Amino acid sequence: METEAAMVDVIVIGAGLSGLVTARRLDKAGITSLLVLEARDRVGGRTNIHQLENGRYVEEGGQLVGPEYKRLIALGEELRMTTWPHNDHGKAVFERRGRVMKFRGSMPWFDDPLGSADFTQSLVRLDRLCKRCPDTDALDTMEAAKLDATTLASWVNRSTKTATARTLWAIIGTLTLGAPPGDLSLLYTLRHLNLIGGVATLLASLSGGDERSFTGGSAELSRRMAGDLGDRAVFDSPVAAIRQYDDHVQIDTRGRTYSARRVVIAMSPADRGTISVDPQLPLPQRSIGEQLSMMHAYKVHVVYPEPFWRSRGLSGATMSDSGPLLLTWDDTAPGEKQGVLVGFMRTDGPRSVDLPDPAPEDPVQRRQAVLSGLARALGDEALSPDEYHEKNWSDERWTTGCVPRWSPGLLTTCGSDYAAAAGRLHFAGS
Ligand SMILES: Cc1cc2nc3c(=O)[nH]c(=O)nc-3n(C[C@H](O)[C@H](O)[C@H](O)COP(=O)(O)OP(=O)(O)OC[C@H]3O[C@@H](n4cnc5c(N)ncnc54)[C@H](O)[C@@H]3O)c2cc1C
Repeated sequence: METEAAMVDVIVIGAGLSGLVTARRLDKAGITSLLVLEARDRVGGRTNIHQLENGRYVEEGGQLVGPEYKRLIALGEELRMTTWPHNDHGKAVFERRGRVMKFRGSMPWFDDPLGSADFTQSLVRLDRLCKRCPDTDALDTMEAAKLDATTLASWVNRSTKTATARTLWAIIGTLTLGAPPGDLSLLYTLRHLNLIGGVATLLASLSGGDERSFTGGSAELSRRMAGDLGDRAVFDSPVAAIRQYDDHVQIDTRGRTYSARRVVIAMSPADRGTISVDPQLPLPQRSIGEQLSMMHAYKVHVVYPEPFWRSRGLSGATMSDSGPLLLTWDDTAPGEKQGVLVGFMRTDGPRSVDLPDPAPEDPVQRRQAVLSGLARALGDEALSPDEYHEKNWSDERWTTGCVPRWSPGLLTTCGSDYAAAAGRLHFAGS
């Protein structure tokens, strides 16, 4: 039986960080007649914790907060949350074509001076290009179109001479930008780098330097925001249909119909596919939903009796072209006895000499491959963990992957209007 709820001023769809921040801001601005409708039985969307056997937790989704995340840091302070710094003492490890090389600091200064110098030079060039990158309001210029038609890979191929530099860009692109460089728009790359604070911030984040995590996990931000909303946050309510009328919007969930003067859809455009919208959205908003896809990857945690890598002078930060983990860092919170490593591996994508193959499908083989890779990089203690946990967001019902993949042409085809309001419908989403 369908039941109909009373009209409210605003309905926000999605209780991830962006939906809850939207609701919180509206509430503070005096728009208190609002509801947040969430498909899952929990808040947080792509942020979530997993309870370990030892009673501690690890973060399955979004976690790291860089120094440029000024609004998120301010939100944390407002919600009385603290953060802890990640360990970056010791040497990082870079495994390339079967060789394990160790380096100190955020720059891979290993025993390949030519490759290192080549990579550094490409960083300087990219930083210069970032400063000339067109902003959001200038997406319809020829310059923007040219940058958007170029892949990061073709720029890397033009700007580097060594295989080492190309491998580093392949790993960095795949993990921090959501796709291998051949699938990434150069325009998107530059805009993303500008957002996070430039090339220097990107480098620091690879070694865990400057990165922090929220105590209790980043999903705690959402829990506290939802707590302040009380029963205006409604769970187990997947929105199936949105119908716009002249003076209101009607929303259908499982067994219940809601009406609001305005609606905010707060999720990645790639995840809007479960909702039908009538009349259909204008072309830019529709195209972004149809064409944007998400990166498919496992986030893996391995728990050890102690952070054994530290006594070997290692930081726990690794990068590898053999994998299956592309990148790891030390996820041990200060004061913890057990050591935790966290890393990412691809679940799909083309084979490449610069990237590990996608992870084995068989879970036993996958675990074994992860532990062997860690042992090559950090030592044989890696073969005997206390606990192993992996999360594949592409297996989730309401999330299609980790972070969006901005392929060439998408930003300029959809234009700067892709997030503009469509009648009474508005868009949020990180
Ligand atoms: C493994 C992983 C690691 C990451 N690491 C980092 C990191 O270190 N730092 C960083 O900054 N970012 C990171 N991210 C990205 C970050 O987590 C996201 O950008 C952010 O959490 C997205 O918030 P959001 O509110 O925009 O979307 P989401 O969190 O995806 O929220 C959307 C919400 O909408 C709900 N929903 C979907 N469909 C419906 C429907 N039909 N009806 C009702 N509700 C619906 C979903 O259940 C979800 O709760 C990571 C993400 C992943 C997955």
